[in-house]
Amino acid sequence: MAFELEKLLRPHILSIKPYSSARDEYSGKIGVFLDANENPYGSLTGEAFNRYPDPYQADIKEKLAPIKGVKPEQIFLGNGSDEAIDLLMRAFCIPGKDNIVLLPPTYGMYEVSAAINDIAIKKVPLTPDFQLQPDSIIEAVDENSKIIFICSPNNPSGNKMDRNAIRKIIEQFSGLVVVDEAYIEFSDEPSFAVELDTFPNLLVMQTFSKAWGLANLRIGMAFASQEIIRILNLIKPPYNISGLTQQKVLESLEKASEIKDLVHKVFEERMYFENELPQFDFVRKIFPTHANFLLVRMDNARQIYEYLISQMIILRDRSKVQLCEDCLRISLGTREENTSLIQALKTYHSNLN
Ligand SMILES: *Cc1c(COP(=O)(O)O)cnc(C)c1O
Repeated sequence: MAFELEKLLRPHILSIKPYSSARDEYSGKIGVFLDANENPYGSLTGEAFNRYPDPYQADIKEKLAPIKGVKPEQIFLGNGSDEAIDLLMRAFCIPGKDNIVLLPPTYGMYEVSAAINDIAIKKVPLTPDFQLQPDSIIEAVDENSKIIFICSPNNPSGNKMDRNAIRKIIEQFSGLVVVDEAYIEFSDEPSFAVELDTFPNLLVMQTFSKAWGLANLRIGMAFASQEIIRILNLIKPPYNISGLTQQKVLESLEKASEIKDLVHKVFEERMYFENELPQFDFVRKIFPTHANFLLVRMDNARQIYEYLISQMIILRDRSKVQLCEDCLRISLGTREENTSLIQALKTYHSNLN
């Protein structure tokens, strides 16, 4: 089936004229700027936050493009990936009519964002080992299905999805396929961003919140065709990424090569848990992970979760989530943090016996 962007978008989107900011109308960097009603004297903190930031984050995109193997025009930056998720729904899905397809268990924001936008959800669960069911997914879509969200490596299960299964879905669906790669740095799998030129209906999301250590600054990436990126830029709030964030991301990009050291450390912590956790007879299964967290099935998961809270150790309780019954999700911390978790589990264990 052919992908036609104009037909897939909500009709009114095509006729929107974007807000034209002062920095759109004159984008030079040198001059006497009396056009944006800014405070000319500076900021109360003594720093210079008084000028509006670059609305399209050109410096970041120029540095990021070669790292990701895409063109600057194929990059959208949002206030977290969560902003991109919301903008996609608003661009493509007619409230009360259209639907998106989710593959649970998966990241919770897709569903929340759909609910806020009054967009229906079709769910096609993953298999018990958290793989895609491409045929059931294609069977589930109807003429109002606009977006399929695939998370790989998947949150909360941690596994990567079979690449051919993802390709099959992209090839057989005439709507947009979002591949959310928030944890791609921890995986041995290459990004789907390298396949953008093959698939006009593909959008790849990544984030600076996980491996890059910038969750607090709120910045996420979307990679897609120039046409799709143009639409996201058209409907985003004009200054969606703060200047401070842009500055810190630029600094981080200079050190991009250090990410692999961090990823290596995370591997070691993954191995630490894989060695330590099996000593507890209440641990039933450690799911294989390609991310910076582990999903672990255990007896009395909820009770263990609450015991750990009493010890000021906070895990994510996924025990009531479909296919994650009796599971807790453990973010891989520093060795000190991870050791304190293992110590607490030892105490819990000896209290049992
Ligand atoms: C953490 C996470 C994100 C990142 O969201 P941000 O808004 O960029 O912080 C996106 N997708 C998944 C699956 C995640 O787990």
